[in-house]
Amino acid sequence: MAVIGLVAHDDKKDEMANWAHAHKHKLGQHTLFATGTTGGRVIAATGLPVTLLKSGPLGGDQQLGAMIAEERLDVLVFFIDPLSAQPHDVDVKALTRLATLYDVLCAFNKPTADAVLAAI
Ligand code: PGA
Repeated sequence: MAVIGLVAHDDKKDEMANWAHAHKHKLGQHTLFATGTTGGRVIAATGLPVTLLKSGPLGGDQQLGAMIAEERLDVLVFFIDPLSAQPHDVDVKALTRLATLYDVLCAFNKPTADAVLAAI
């Protein structure tokens, strides 16, 4: 069983909810954490238990980063919106940096998330 962190920027939240719904049974075999708003959408779409962290702009990305630094997160599924400026861009960079540093399995788009989920 893996510990999976889920994050989606606002324009990607529908995609995350649809992806989570499509993979509900597989995701249900793992332990899920998510930033606040993303997690709420995932719970609504799947009914699965998700530990909700703070909303991303209020520190949720940093909380996931801390989990990575403490080696408590195995997989990061982060649907990034590459077309919108984010107020918490520095936190987004910090999260992706730590995920890279600690060799966390990362997916930044749906096809990669499909592949990662199939591999765990
Ligand atoms: P949210 O945070 O799920 O609370 O919207 C995601 C983000 O980092 O934008």
